[in-house]
Amino acid sequence: MVNLQAQYKRLEGEVSEKWKQLCRKGSFILGEEVEKFEEEFAVYCARKHAVAVSSGTSALHLALEASGVRGREVITTPFTFIATAEAVIHAGGKIKWIDIEKRTYCLDAEELEKNISPETAAVMPVQLYGCSADMDPILESSRKAGLAVIEDCAQSHGALYKGRKSGSLGDIACFSFYPGKNLGAYGDAGCVVCDSDETAQLLRRLGNHGSDKRYYHTEVGYNYRMDTLQAAVLRIKLRYLDTWNEKRRRIAGLYNERLKGLPLALPEVPEYAEHVFHQYVILADDREKLMKKLADSGIATAIHYPVALHMQPSFSDSGYSEGDFPVSEEISRRCLSLPICPELSESQVEYITGKIREFYG
Ligand SMILES: *Cc1c(COP(=O)(O)O)cnc(C)c1O
Repeated sequence: MVNLQAQYKRLEGEVSEKWKQLCRKGSFILGEEVEKFEEEFAVYCARKHAVAVSSGTSALHLALEASGVRGREVITTPFTFIATAEAVIHAGGKIKWIDIEKRTYCLDAEELEKNISPETAAVMPVQLYGCSADMDPILESSRKAGLAVIEDCAQSHGALYKGRKSGSLGDIACFSFYPGKNLGAYGDAGCVVCDSDETAQLLRRLGNHGSDKRYYHTEVGYNYRMDTLQAAVLRIKLRYLDTWNEKRRRIAGLYNERLKGLPLALPEVPEYAEHVFHQYVILADDREKLMKKLADSGIATAIHYPVALHMQPSFSDSGYSEGDFPVSEEISRRCLSLPICPELSESQVEYITGKIREFYG
């Protein structure tokens, strides 16, 4: 699906030199390297503040906790990675799922408008597969109702919405730097970005045991700090992110061209979006057979995600059941992610799409 080894080979010199320096200094948690990454990533996201943390999941948890969702509802989508929903529970909130849009598989703005209630504290759009939800109507409904908007940007580093950076649109945005993400560390890491000075200070304290002065604690917090070695890798990789995203778009274009005319639904890019193709996802009715054919030809594929969250055993007591979110359920039955990463070559795409055409031929 992704070729992390090929990417490492190109960065090995830079990374190992930097890691050696940091190890010699004994610098392992937070510190200057993390501060520099925060400055650079805030600029990249067109935000005033970036707070580096230990994972995308901890970023979401902190963002929700800082938004005061305890005992109140958070509206989000059931068609996402489990962490989006887990974070709501960990922050003491109540999940209110709504269905996704057919075009982007992201939060449906019309559904949002219909589901806001006095109970609602926040809305969490997930910028899935590298494409932003239609944010303007979401922001407008949220502003009217006084909701906090928290973007889950774990898959949308560098994506644009009407020319604006993904992660710069709501009150707070959360990023994951899990190794396979468009910007990935060499372990777990994440980041929260925002413009409010007060929110940034609160996020920073909560992620560091409720403390901004060592051994003095103003809140009960968490150990969600970023490792220094991860910040060093991320600073190096951030310089390549736009080039890598451009390559992903080129690969997606090639897939589109070669898969045209087959009985498959190809990804749609709305006119407002610059997509960063964290995943290239097609919809196929005979998905399992196609997967098997590709696996037999040495091609890895994946399903993001096979079970919508309201149907997961871990949420069996959430009060939702099968049939509640028909679009999410349909997409989870038909979606198939093809290999995509900046290192994927044109001839590899030819090979993969050739096998898919054979399957339907
Ligand atoms: C990866 C991901 C997360 C969680 O990030 P981690 O760094 O793995 O904790 C959250 N939401 C979405 C949509 C993701 O893809």
